[in-house]
Amino acid sequence: MANSQYEYVKREFEFDRRLPPSNWIVVRIDGCHFHRFSKTHAFEKPNDENALRLMETCATAMLKKFPDIVFAYGASDEYSFVFREQTEFYNRRESKILSLCVSYFTSVYVMKWKKIFPNKELKEPPYFDARAVCYPNLKTIRDYLAWRQVDCHINNQYNTCFWMLVKSGKSEQEAQLSLKGTSSKDKNELLAQQFQMNYDDELAMFRKGSSVYREKEGKVVKNDYGDPIKRTRPILTVAHVDIIGFSFDKPNDAVALS
Ligand code: ATP
Ligand code: ATP
Ligand code: MG
Ligand code: MG
Ligand code: MG
Repeated sequence: MANSQYEYVKREFEFDRRLPPSNWIVVRIDGCHFHRFSKTHAFEKPNDENALRLMETCATAMLKKFPDIVFAYGASDEYSFVFREQTEFYNRRESKILSLCVSYFTSVYVMKWKKIFPNKELKEPPYFDARAVCYPNLKTIRDYLAWRQVDCHINNQYNTCFWMLVKSGKSEQEAQLSLKGTSSKDKNELLAQQFQMNYDDELAMFRKGSSVYREKEGKVVKNDYGDPIKRTRPILTVAHVDIIGFSFDKPNDAVALS
């Protein structure tokens, strides 16, 4: 089609936004209407462990597929994918990066559904939205991840209280009212006093969210002369830990706890 009379429609109307160089690129995806999707598929409340495992499986597949993603963090129906700051993936074209990430993630979600939920039919097509945000330095990318993890904590603590109240007989409206204006400390006390529950005993996966990254695994092998040498290879790791303090300063390399 090159140089046809119609070619102007591309030349004059198509514009590519290139994300600024030397910035960490975060692609955040979030499930569309997952409140409803989770009801339709009878997810356990407040946290369906299998649904979270499925999201982790998708995130791990993303790191396998796209080597320039150095770190992923997710909770509930969302994931953030951090591309290394010098990435030249699709020349940093925003629409390519976003559409590839969100479509690949969604395809894996659908493909792996049956393995994780063998007895649950997928009743509607899951779909996700996506945005890209650039962060110019380590401080801002760290603060971004800290923001998402704090959000995970706040939401999970609220949801844990909310569903304990609902399961104990309160209506959803009553549960919402009794939590209005409560502090984090109040919520922990409510769980301890009314339900003999220690919030810190809840699964780390629920409280901390999921981090996916490459960790260097050291292995001693023999070289051609039979001498032992140390080989390292990156292995994909999923962890439920505090991510404040993670190190991102080794491009395309292992991201390790500092
Ligand atoms: P939007 O389309 O605007 O994102 P949404 O319904 O997806 O709307 P979110 O704010 O993204 O709303 O919240 C996601 C919802 O999905 C949560 O409220 C929760 O009810 C549900 N959800 C997601 N993952 C799980 C899970 N693992 N277990 C139980 N519920 C979940
Ligand atoms: P890129 O990732 O750059 O898009 P591509 O391999 O997808 O690369 P396209 O220019 O998008 O290349 O072309 C799509 C290719 O997919 C075609 O060359 C053709 O070989 C194949 N293809 C797509 N649909 C069909 C189809 N219905 N029947 C046979 N081949 C098809
Ligand atoms: Mg959502
Ligand atoms: Mg969400
Ligand atoms: Mg193509």
